[in-house]
Amino acid sequence: MYNSAARNSLIIKEIANELGFDFCGISKAEQLDEDAVNLEKWLTKGYHGKMKWMENHFEKRVDPTKLVEDSKSVISLLLNYAPSENLDQQKIKIAKYAYGMDYHFVIKDKLKTFLALINERIGEVGGRVFVDSAPVLDRAWAAKSGLGWIGKNSMLITKQKGSFYFISELILDLELVSDYATTDHCGTCTACIDACPTDAIVSNKVIDSTKCISYLTIELREQIPTDFKNQMEGWAFGCDICQDVCPWNKFAQPHQTSSFSAHEKLQELKEEDWTEMTEEVFKEVFKKSAVKRAGYMKLKQSIDFLNK
Ligand code: SF4
Ligand code: SF4
Repeated sequence: MYNSAARNSLIIKEIANELGFDFCGISKAEQLDEDAVNLEKWLTKGYHGKMKWMENHFEKRVDPTKLVEDSKSVISLLLNYAPSENLDQQKIKIAKYAYGMDYHFVIKDKLKTFLALINERIGEVGGRVFVDSAPVLDRAWAAKSGLGWIGKNSMLITKQKGSFYFISELILDLELVSDYATTDHCGTCTACIDACPTDAIVSNKVIDSTKCISYLTIELREQIPTDFKNQMEGWAFGCDICQDVCPWNKFAQPHQTSSFSAHEKLQELKEEDWTEMTEEVFKEVFKKSAVKRAGYMKLKQSIDFLNK
């Protein structure tokens, strides 16, 4: 006979499967001691740059019991976004995760349904859902719950299908059975470190955001420093280089979420359409995309920087 924690864990994994999540893992809600030390070092070195919000809520960031009252378990969920379209040949590139509809909306809806189904099938369960929306160390939780390991490029990598995944969480006041962390399979590979055009991967799993193209093209509100001239390799919003070169992404399979497919107009953009993009065109092409979060002016600034 199953005890209730084991039975409820199975129900949760069934729901994850029904809702189309690719992987689901469970961890006990507790302080992440090692990650707390690493985060502190990273912040002290100033690798977060102008993302001052990363300094806030340190305690909550490393301990879900301080974030969600009475929390007992963290459920980590992965949703594949590996595209079937290949837009990497375009001169101006955006990160694959932003090809289709903004994942925040898509996943938030799924998570709300998830919580409703838990309440229906298990009983009254309290908790909160998170997708990039609060101080949660999502890669650390996903690794702790056995979904993959954190690679030298700092991404969560699954042995089965690589690293093009959105990570989200439910933090619940429900006792569940925890999964075991998996082992690291980077081995002697250094492909991501070697390929990073700005040397942003300063050591194993440590990224200096102030040098990372994702930060420069999304988070940094001011002009991109001229030091990066000729180093951006055509990336105008985000950067996938350290994932594209990862040998584990040979196992990536195209996603099955229709709303993540690239907008037709995005696929048709030519170099001159990017360089001469008006706000009107931007609004049409990126109407529901995560690119909208950076905004027209930021995208334009990045494109102009690439063309200087
Ligand atoms: S996203 Fe691009 S710039 Fe940032 S670490 Fe990876 S390869 Fe380097
Ligand atoms: S490219 Fe190599 S070192 Fe980098 S994350 Fe992938 S397997 Fe690890």
